[in-house]
Amino acid sequence: MAVHFVPWDTTRDLMKEANRLYDAAGTFDCVEKGDLVAVKLHVGELGNPYYVQPFFVHDIVRRVKEAGGKPFLTDSNTYYHAQRNNAYDHMITALTNGFNMAPFIVADGLRSENYRTVKTRGILQEIEVSGAIAEADAMIVVSHDKGHELSGFGGAIKHLGMGCTPRAGKLRQHRTVGLEIDTSKCIGCGKCKEACEMDLPEIIEGKARNTSPLCMRCPICIGACPMGAIKFVDKENLCRALASAAYGVLSTFKKDKVTYVSFAKDITQYCDCVPGPGEIMMKDVGIFASDSPVSIDAAFLKMVDYKLFNDAYHVDCMLQVQEAKALGIQGEVNPEITRIS
Ligand code: SF4
Ligand code: SF4
Repeated sequence: MAVHFVPWDTTRDLMKEANRLYDAAGTFDCVEKGDLVAVKLHVGELGNPYYVQPFFVHDIVRRVKEAGGKPFLTDSNTYYHAQRNNAYDHMITALTNGFNMAPFIVADGLRSENYRTVKTRGILQEIEVSGAIAEADAMIVVSHDKGHELSGFGGAIKHLGMGCTPRAGKLRQHRTVGLEIDTSKCIGCGKCKEACEMDLPEIIEGKARNTSPLCMRCPICIGACPMGAIKFVDKENLCRALASAAYGVLSTFKKDKVTYVSFAKDITQYCDCVPGPGEIMMKDVGIFASDSPVSIDAAFLKMVDYKLFNDAYHVDCMLQVQEAKALGIQGEVNPEITRIS
């Protein structure tokens, strides 16, 4: 479960460096002749300039074809109302952001209706896996390492757990988190309700209250509240849910049919899903490749000052990695990192 790594050294040809990395890590060993190969990526949100650069994905597609596979790009729709919450708009976003090097198949279908529910381990008993991912023969998980308000950081485990699940699976994970409204701060202005696509929270006697099972635990009302009265609680549960969902997603693949490439560049405050990703939190690190989501995420965290994420989001980034390992996903929380030079 070693991790291979090339630094982000712009005095070198990074395309060539990436290919040397893939060769050393055996990234395409999971591809057999005729395999339908999911290249799982995030195509970015319109307006957010930070996502994996398309020319790297172009090259990964080329390598999958050389290995005899049939590559398709894929991601799942968002669970909240945004640019990518249906397949039509998701495909337009993919094309606009330059992802035209292979067919882009929205993994969970037009309106997130295409999925398979599987049993899993950990905090969730079962998880919905997006159909095209559950049906693929092999998968290359191409991640962008960055901060995340709920889980501290997002890398390969988050990409598996959240990114490979449809709306129902994303909701299942998000609902493990709590949402608290501090009534001593609330002035009853109703801005949270105006912003919420579910028309929540209720305003009762001049105070906001949210006990609805429909609440999606999205951050919209938190951002809309002028008093800072709303906050997430029990965020650790989402870290556990990511690992639990990732275990379920991987159960749909045969052994050794999933590999990982992570780009630690443009390491932003927030994830690729939002139009405004915030500030760059740390300098560019490099590209990682591994056959383990546990090892590849742990390698990134080991190489950066991840306490910056912990302090910013009040959740321990390592928790999702430790939980994935505890559930039995292969890999090491303290992996050996082989630098390609
Ligand atoms: S988290 Fe807030 S904005 Fe999102 S659904 Fe719940 S009440 Fe609405
Ligand atoms: S936006 Fe904030 S202050 Fe206004 S009603 Fe909602 S919770 Fe209360």
